[in-house]
Amino acid sequence: MLRTFPLEKIRNIGIIAHIDAGKTTATEMILHHTGRTYKIGSVDEGTAVMDWMEQEKERGITITAAATTCHWREHRINIIDTPGHVDFTAEVERSLRVLDGGVVIFDGVAGVEAQSEAVWRQADKYRVARICFVNKMDRVGADFQHTVAMISERLRCRALPILLPLGSEKDFRGIINLVENKVIPFADEPNSASIEEGETLLAKHRQTLIENLAELDEQIMLLYLGGQDVTASQIKAAIRRLIISNHIVPVLCGSALRDKGIQLLLDAIVDYLPSPLDIPPTSATNPETGENLIRLASDDEPFSALAFKTVFDPFMGRLVYLRVYSGRMRAGAQVLNSTTGKKERLGKLYVMHADHREETDHAETGSIVATVGLKMTSTGDTLCEPKQPVLFESIRFAEPVLSMAVEPKSKVDQDKLDDALAKLTMEDPTFKVYHDKETGQTLISGMGELHLEVLMERIFREYGMRVNAGKPQVAYKETITIPVESEGRFIRQSGGRGQYGHVWLRIEPGQRGSGFEFRDQIRGGTIPKEFIPSVGAGVKSALQSGGLAGYPVIDVKVTLFDGSFHEVDSSDVAFRMAAFMAIRDGLDKAKPVILEPIMEVEITTPNQFLGDIIGDLNSRRAHIEGIESRDEVSSIRCLVPLEETFGFAGDLRSLSQGRASYTMRFHHYEELPQNLAEQIVARVGRIR
Ligand code: GDP
Repeated sequence: MLRTFPLEKIRNIGIIAHIDAGKTTATEMILHHTGRTYKIGSVDEGTAVMDWMEQEKERGITITAAATTCHWREHRINIIDTPGHVDFTAEVERSLRVLDGGVVIFDGVAGVEAQSEAVWRQADKYRVARICFVNKMDRVGADFQHTVAMISERLRCRALPILLPLGSEKDFRGIINLVENKVIPFADEPNSASIEEGETLLAKHRQTLIENLAELDEQIMLLYLGGQDVTASQIKAAIRRLIISNHIVPVLCGSALRDKGIQLLLDAIVDYLPSPLDIPPTSATNPETGENLIRLASDDEPFSALAFKTVFDPFMGRLVYLRVYSGRMRAGAQVLNSTTGKKERLGKLYVMHADHREETDHAETGSIVATVGLKMTSTGDTLCEPKQPVLFESIRFAEPVLSMAVEPKSKVDQDKLDDALAKLTMEDPTFKVYHDKETGQTLISGMGELHLEVLMERIFREYGMRVNAGKPQVAYKETITIPVESEGRFIRQSGGRGQYGHVWLRIEPGQRGSGFEFRDQIRGGTIPKEFIPSVGAGVKSALQSGGLAGYPVIDVKVTLFDGSFHEVDSSDVAFRMAAFMAIRDGLDKAKPVILEPIMEVEITTPNQFLGDIIGDLNSRRAHIEGIESRDEVSSIRCLVPLEETFGFAGDLRSLSQGRASYTMRFHHYEELPQNLAEQIVARVGRIR
């Protein structure tokens, strides 16, 4: 079957920028030029196409910013949304994981800002090929060459201008195209002095560009040494090779607001950024055997795709965005979710454009599609052909480690808040909501302070609700340190039918990370088989309700090895109660301890701030595992108790003038030092 779109003409890209650099305006202009936007939205009037809340209201159809497809010069460009909050690393990594190339937008006045530095390093990690666009050349203070120098120095890359501005600020009169060897004036009838100035700059800088390329590319070198002319198409081919191999970053210029340079940017996306064929084959494993596999970007390979975003769409319900890495799959076909091991049916498939969605009957290699109907697939899961299972390295999502009580500012909004929270949990696998039956409170939990802050902000922005939030609480756990045997008897004789449950349990510490394990070693019917599941349930609920300070008990092995029953009085409830009591008594004797979540933190900072940052980490009970330095930048890898990370984002920002960045993820649970454990027990009190 023929493809709907040639693979080599697909570009899966992200537009990456510091807040306010002009990402929305530039995206808007791109959609305008690619013919899919009927009217140009202006950010300042709040009507930008990618600004989906606004649009939803206005047009009554959903525009999700997760991925938008447009066309330019017979190429299909899928723009995958990258979040503005670069601090929110799980989101950024999730989007970088599925794109092949990026356009990084800089503000021509501000140059390289701290956030761009942070996201640039993440893009380095995923080897995303990039082009840079220096925006706002019309603004007072815009300085192209200065920004290019900053890109080279701060981001430590080989930044090569391929377009130059002719004039700047109010005098921004045109663009000089070094590759095509021409001056493009904005005015219909430019004055001849202007053209002359452009020609002089063109001659000089084109030569520099060719010399730079000759240093890195053999074909250009041979032409250059032979004194031959280098044609535009030879330069283009060399630039394409050098971008894809991550050797250079070409720099373009323009003004998104004035619609200058946008078509040239689209040309550059098509000419230089990789197609799915240009990136290395995706490595994966066979989920059954664990052996390594690769999937080539080809329709002839077995189907494989990664779910990279789940959003709740008010009209369509749960929408899962897929990036197809290999093969093809029909809408409605059965696929295997190799992350969960469950089979599911793909619903309808859509290609999402800025202002409409297009139904498609196939998802083919390299494409980005949105699908409805996948109920059990969440962000980060791999979907594949059931007979050819494959599992991609998942985007790592840990269990939430921080929780916080929330309530709407106005009581009447409770239902609205519940609804908003439910939708957010569908979109974000690291965000959970609980209702505490005893206190009636709604508790939300996530991966850290900033994560919860961002979600609160979204509730305000997208659902128009102000929320009161309590202090964030660390999700402590408990475990035991010595094995014990414990008896539980639940015997009631009161007139008619009584209750009789009796168990002996062995409770032992398990390995860290092993969770909870229940084993039945009853022989010879001391307790009839039918009651065993009730014993298990009683054990589980007692462990959940906690020991020392009421936190859930983890990493224990419980064995049912003896007990007795009564022909008439024994029941499920009686055995459940007996098990519950045996655990409660047993935990007391088993020397319980409190466990705290330990986060793995990786900080990247210019060297001059290293000392201060290490000092700060030491005051946070951090264990520094290693420091690596490269050029002027160091990265520190350390383990820090979650409790001590509160306020870290702000402190790091002020210690490093905003230039250090960090990632934080849950690593493991570890025993809380004795003195801190005592403080907690004193505070929450022994529950019993
Ligand atoms: P985002 O936060 O990166 O999405 O940035 P926006 O696209 O929302 O732009 C931020 C502000 O910069 C808005 O007020 C825009 O109108 C303005 N802006 C964007 N591009 C340009 C430009 O090329 N020149 C000037 N002068 N202003 C611009």
